[in-house]
Amino acid sequence: MEIIVLIKQVPDIEKVRFDAEKGRIDRSSAPAETNPFDLNALEAAIQLKEKLGGSITVLSMGPKQAESSLRDALARGADKAILLTDGRFAGADTLATAYTLATAIKKLGRFDLIICGEKTVDGDTGQVGPEVAEFLGIPHVAYVSEIREVHQDKLLLISDMGDKYLVEVKLPALITVTKDLNTPRLPSLRDVLKARKKEIEVWNADALSDYGDLDGFGVKGSKTMVVKVVIPSEKGRKGIIFRGEDAAEKLLEVLRENRLVN
Ligand SMILES: Cc1cc2nc3c(=O)[nH]c(=O)nc-3n(C[C@H](O)[C@H](O)[C@H](O)COP(=O)(O)OP(=O)(O)OC[C@H]3O[C@@H](n4cnc5c(N)ncnc54)[C@H](O)[C@@H]3O)c2cc1C
Repeated sequence: MEIIVLIKQVPDIEKVRFDAEKGRIDRSSAPAETNPFDLNALEAAIQLKEKLGGSITVLSMGPKQAESSLRDALARGADKAILLTDGRFAGADTLATAYTLATAIKKLGRFDLIICGEKTVDGDTGQVGPEVAEFLGIPHVAYVSEIREVHQDKLLLISDMGDKYLVEVKLPALITVTKDLNTPRLPSLRDVLKARKKEIEVWNADALSDYGDLDGFGVKGSKTMVVKVVIPSEKGRKGIIFRGEDAAEKLLEVLRENRLVN
């Protein structure tokens, strides 16, 4: 089975700060990591390859440093890695991101299955996977929490959208997967060292020009724009921590003030 896994590098969401003035995430404020759901997508691909044979290509659009996520994917079991990087891809909304990824997939040629995470932990839209499928004119199933049966020409899946649905999908197809699907394996030190020597292909916008319209990439291809960014003020419940020897007395004082004890 020929499988493509879409991988996005995201900032560590626990540490990242937001630049409210520019309306963007300040990516320099936190270390980068592979979107956690994409590790579930890769693990699913590795398990399918172990069963059926074939190969796994990982594909990412992002800045040069996204190479580290692709290299990690090679260490975990991917066979080939491609990074789409170019100033002309920058400022892409989800539609332009999906168009760029779909154009690269057309250039790659034959595939049976594309696997994505259900969403990213930074953008969090869950739109890119289904949009890629629409651009390629193939069926897609979102929120896959179980791959129940695998056949040469179809898959039987559980899609978990609150209620669970049993879905049969004909290949080639695209699926987006949830964390419940599997537990991603960790690469061994030997695999990490081996992956360091593997080549990561880098494609710019010109490399895709025979397969798509350059005006569909980046800002030019984006149909949406961020008009205003508002960081919600923290209202509602707040915690207070009392420390020191008189912590119990202070707590009692607050409870009395709020008439919670006499
Ligand atoms: C108007 C606008 C302008 C924007 N400008 C910028 C900008 O300048 N710089 C910037 O960094 N972001 C920008 N963004 C955010 C950018 O659109 C998203 O980061 C991107 O489209 C992915 O969306 P998402 O994170 O919601 O992915 P989701 O749809 O939640 O992701 C689902 C899955 O799709 C796959 N996937 C998603 N993105 C990628 C990718 N890049 N490569 C490979 N696989 C992927 C992964 O498998 C992922 O698990 C902008 C967004 C808007 C609306």
